[in-house]
Amino acid sequence: MKRGNNMTRLRTVVIWLIPIFGILILSGLCLSTSAFNWQQQATPPPIIVENVRDNIYLVKGGSGANCYFLAGDKTNLLFDAKMSPDSMKEMLSEIQKISPRPLSMVILTHSDGDHTNGLPGLPEGTKIISHKKAFEEMLPAVEKSPELKKFLPSETYEDRKKLDFEGTKLELRNFGPAHTSGDTIAIIPTSKVAIVGDLVFIGRDPLIHQHKNGSFYGLIKTLESLLAYKPEIELFLSGHADPVGREEVISLLNTLKQTEARVREMIQQNKTLEEIKAAFGLQLTSPPPRRPPLVEIIYQEIMAKK
Ligand SMILES: [Zn+2]
Repeated sequence: MKRGNNMTRLRTVVIWLIPIFGILILSGLCLSTSAFNWQQQATPPPIIVENVRDNIYLVKGGSGANCYFLAGDKTNLLFDAKMSPDSMKEMLSEIQKISPRPLSMVILTHSDGDHTNGLPGLPEGTKIISHKKAFEEMLPAVEKSPELKKFLPSETYEDRKKLDFEGTKLELRNFGPAHTSGDTIAIIPTSKVAIVGDLVFIGRDPLIHQHKNGSFYGLIKTLESLLAYKPEIELFLSGHADPVGREEVISLLNTLKQTEARVREMIQQNKTLEEIKAAFGLQLTSPPPRRPPLVEIIYQEIMAKK
C-alpha cells in the first residue's frame, strides 16, 4: 500500500517535471540562440581592401567608418582608425598583404569614435595628425577610455598643412566648422582625390554635430570650397559611402541649399518649428531625439543669424 502510494507520488512528480524540464531546455535554447544572434550581429563585417586610384586604397568593413591608406615605397600612410583596437589590428594586417611596409603616420579626418576609437590598436608612438579642434574634441573620450590617452594626435594644424609623403604631395585643409569643428580634408592633387571623412554622405542627411560646434552653413561653405579647389578634385572618398564623383557632391550641395531655402521661406511665413518639421514629414517625438534632425539645425542656424 505504502509502496503503491510512493509510486503514485513518483509518477506525479515525473509528470510535473517533464514540462518544467521542457520549459527550461526550450528557454535555454532560446537564450543561446539569441546570444548567438547577438554575437553574429555584433561581429563586424570582414575587412576588405580595394584600390581606388594610383597608390590610394579604401579599407571597408570591420567596425567603424571607411579608412584609406596611401602605399609608399618605404611606408604606408593611414587615414582614420576604425572603431575598435581589434578592427585596427585586423586592418593593419590586411594592409600588410597589399603593402608590406611599416606605418609612418595616421591622419584623422575628425574626432568621432567610429574614426578614432581603434587608435589604441596602433603601435605605440605612431605619429598621428589631426586638426587642432579634433584634438580638443577627443579629450572627453580620453576620460571615458584612458587607453586613448597615448594615442592622441601628436601633431595638429589649423587652416592648412602641406605634407610630402615619399614624393606624393598632400594638403590637409579645414574650411571652418562643418560636420564638427575639427574636420580635415586630405587632398592628393596629383590623383585629383580628396579624403573627406563625414563631409559627404550619400542617401542620408548629413550629420552636423552641434556638441562639437559643427555648422550647416559651414558644411555648405566646405562643400563649395571643395568643389572650387584647383586642380579640380574628381573623386571624393567618404567615411560612410563608396567613392563619389563631382556630380554626386554637386547634387548633395543643391539638395542642402534647396532644403535651406524651403526652411527660410517658411520662417518668413511665420511658421513655427513644429509646422516646418511637419512639412518635412518629421513627427514630434517625446522625448525628442538625442540629436535634432537636419531641418531643425537649419532652423536654429537661420534664427541665430536673425
Ligand atoms: Zn563623424
